[in-house]
Amino acid sequence: MPSYKAKAVILKSYKLGESDKIIKMYSQQDGIISAVAKGARKARSKFGGRLELFNIVDSEISTGKSLDIITQAEILKSFKNISSDFYKFVFCETISEIVLKTQQHSGGSSEMLFKLIYVCFNEIDGFNNEDIVSLKKAVCFFVAKSIKIIGYNPLLKNCCKCGMDMKDLYSFRSSNISFSVKFGGILCEKCSEFLEGTVKLDVSTYRFLCDVFNLKIEDFRDMEVNLQVLKKVRSLMENYITYHIDCSIKSFKYLKKLGI
Ligand SMILES: [Zn+2]
Repeated sequence: MPSYKAKAVILKSYKLGESDKIIKMYSQQDGIISAVAKGARKARSKFGGRLELFNIVDSEISTGKSLDIITQAEILKSFKNISSDFYKFVFCETISEIVLKTQQHSGGSSEMLFKLIYVCFNEIDGFNNEDIVSLKKAVCFFVAKSIKIIGYNPLLKNCCKCGMDMKDLYSFRSSNISFSVKFGGILCEKCSEFLEGTVKLDVSTYRFLCDVFNLKIEDFRDMEVNLQVLKKVRSLMENYITYHIDCSIKSFKYLKKLGI
């Protein structure tokens, strides 16, 4: 049987039969891989805990007729604080679901997306337990950067309908700025008059939105953010990714149900 190697992050697993698991992972070279880990649920499995969620593994996979089979896996990095903390776990599950839903039909792979997943899991692993604000910020960061990688980033410096240059908004404007999820960005006053369904952003929400798309993690990490602003940007990002990728992310609903 032909085989291949994959450096991948484990995003989801399902039970299969009595003792097997189906593992879904995102690999640097091949994008999403679904493969069977035979005997992985047995107490004495050769895989031990190597195929646990969110681990980064070096794996060897045989190409099967219907499903590929994982023959070997070595842990490159495991995030021990994620599996032991409920909140960290559910936020990482959200990231995993976004990757699986947005990438399932793309058939491609992206080294940038792989790195982004790694950076976000690593960041979340290092948070203090129950630091919900940092977790929410990290998910916003992940969604913004993944939208950028996919190529759907919103226009935040020009009107997304007429193209008018609005780059001074970040520093000067104090009144409300209109944002359209459907048209993918901010709108000038004239264009926003005729459009329904726009969201009004105050200047601090607009700035945070620009920052989450533009800043690197090391600069974004320590940014102070008002909770109302975070709530608004997060809901905007959820609507944006759901609308443009045309898929529903169940984890967003679950987080809301949990009140986080
Ligand atoms: Zn306009």
